[in-house]
Amino acid sequence: MDLGLNSFIALSGGTKIQKPKFMREKRKRIARWQRIIARRNKGSKRREKAKERLQIIYEHSKNQSNDYLHKLSHALVSSGYTSFVVEGLHIQNMMKDHKLAGSVQDASWNRFIQLLSYKAESAGLRVVKVNPRNTSKECSNCGNVQDMPLSERTYVCNRCGISMDRDINAAINILKRGRAGLARIYAQGESVRPQREATLDELRTDKTHPLQNYINAEEAHTL
Ligand SMILES: [Zn+2]
Repeated sequence: MDLGLNSFIALSGGTKIQKPKFMREKRKRIARWQRIIARRNKGSKRREKAKERLQIIYEHSKNQSNDYLHKLSHALVSSGYTSFVVEGLHIQNMMKDHKLAGSVQDASWNRFIQLLSYKAESAGLRVVKVNPRNTSKECSNCGNVQDMPLSERTYVCNRCGISMDRDINAAINILKRGRAGLARIYAQGESVRPQREATLDELRTDKTHPLQNYINAEEAHTL
């Protein structure tokens, strides 16, 4: 999976899980109250009041997102996968590459990986972390590496011409790296368990699938 720009997470099978609305909104609310605090006189009662208000918003959004992340990681772990592949050191990478340092989203991703790892390991599933270098710049079809400015939502390969959602392309690259890593692990004794991921169409038709509630059909992308 890719912790995406277009989506909260993108799965290599083509499923995109959108950022929940409250995550998008809370960023704006927090920024608004930070501005209000900055405007008010230091030491004033009104400034203290605004600080209290911001603290409440922080707490509330932390609880809300914790709840969401618990449910989402649980849904993923119950979806029939035998392992998950994520980028290692994603947060540091985001800060360096995309200047999104300090964003609320980084904190959510960190927490999400923590929860997913914990739940996966308790269920006997593997979480594999791979090198995040160029996962969004590399073509998942032919291996070409090209620049991908943040404004580009679609990966259109200069070499082979394939066109697909940038986050899904990254997720496929992450899966490939994870598979290579797992193959090395299994080569030391265990046999490689081939794993097939549910396609988006299968998720859509299977009403009992744990990820059902997280799919935004309009924005989702089928390979
Ligand atoms: Zn290509």
